[in-house]
Amino acid sequence: MHQRLVMVFNQFENELRRQKCTAGMKEMLLRGDWPTKPPLGYDSIQKNGARTIVINATGKILRHAFIWKLEEDLSHDAIRARLAQKGVVLCRQRITAVLRNPFYCGLLSHNMLDGEIIQGNHEPLISRELFLRVNGVMDTHTHGYSIKEENEHIPLKRFLLCEKCNKPLRGYIVKKKGIHYYKCCTIGCGTNRNAQVLNDRFAEALEAFKLDHDPEVLHLIKQQTVATFNQYMQGHQDEHMMLVQKQQELNKKIERLEERFIEEELTADLYNKYTAKYNEELSDIETAIAEASQVSNLRECIGLAVDFAVNIAKKWVLADYFTKQRIQNLLFPSGIFYNKEMDECRTERVNSVFLYLAHLKQLTLKKQKDIVGFTMPLFDLTRSVAGTGLEPMTFGL
Ligand SMILES: [Zn+2]
Repeated sequence: MHQRLVMVFNQFENELRRQKCTAGMKEMLLRGDWPTKPPLGYDSIQKNGARTIVINATGKILRHAFIWKLEEDLSHDAIRARLAQKGVVLCRQRITAVLRNPFYCGLLSHNMLDGEIIQGNHEPLISRELFLRVNGVMDTHTHGYSIKEENEHIPLKRFLLCEKCNKPLRGYIVKKKGIHYYKCCTIGCGTNRNAQVLNDRFAEALEAFKLDHDPEVLHLIKQQTVATFNQYMQGHQDEHMMLVQKQQELNKKIERLEERFIEEELTADLYNKYTAKYNEELSDIETAIAEASQVSNLRECIGLAVDFAVNIAKKWVLADYFTKQRIQNLLFPSGIFYNKEMDECRTERVNSVFLYLAHLKQLTLKKQKDIVGFTMPLFDLTRSVAGTGLEPMTFGL
């Protein structure tokens, strides 16, 4: 149970870090700067204190691939052979990826841009016209590739699960009416529901996690949460020491086993049997130790969580598709089940930090309120807080 909590907590911390980092990356992309390692054929160099992306020697050779494709309609294998002659050795898939990548004609395309294409600040390897014509040539061979458009009307797709089949629901639109639905794709299942209805219900459910308190109370909540988690981690440190002790004992046992085997007190069968057993135990303990040592930045992490919870529903509603999916999975790591017969949503797991904050909120409001639109009452959820070893302390308000 403890380990599970730590894992959820780590996952949460990583997620927050990634979101901070994503915001920075998206900004760079919108400015036309590629935020990560540039593709093959380019180098990232420091010029006058600024990072610049320039074409390298490989890039100059790679340029020919586009020209061969257009002018001679060479197969990818033939392109591959010619490039290899010039000293650039690539696998077949890599050639396809290069020819498809708009970066080479000066454009930026990235998951984070939600389908938007940005004019990059780097020098193009080829003209935009050449790129489009090459891709036109390829598309006549491969019947085109469609860029998968993630639909802003169906942010809960793949996150909602059909309760009957345990399969993710997909989204679709009835074009005549312009109405979106979530739907289970199992043949004969028939689970489907108006998307807007479920989206609204989800936004409403998020209100249970909203912390709409005065700044002073928010400050207290932060302190309380840090104190509780610290207390919990303290207990965990004892556990950590126990694990380390066990690890040392096991190592000694394994050593002793080797000695006895060498001194021929043990048969090879017995030796193998016990080494396997001890090594298995050892690997379990090592995993547990690694998990237990990972939690850091507690205060910062909780600060972020509380700030996030202040306007949680609004943040979700206003976010783009990509961010919406992130928030959903952060809060409900096992997704949400939808039951068509009862027209009900249900979840099995809530991120422990947000769960704890929701619990504190109930304490400050001195009332227990269910998560609207969900069959799992928040009251039950807070009991599962106790189950994770987090005992909330009451504080004077
Ligand atoms: Zn189904």
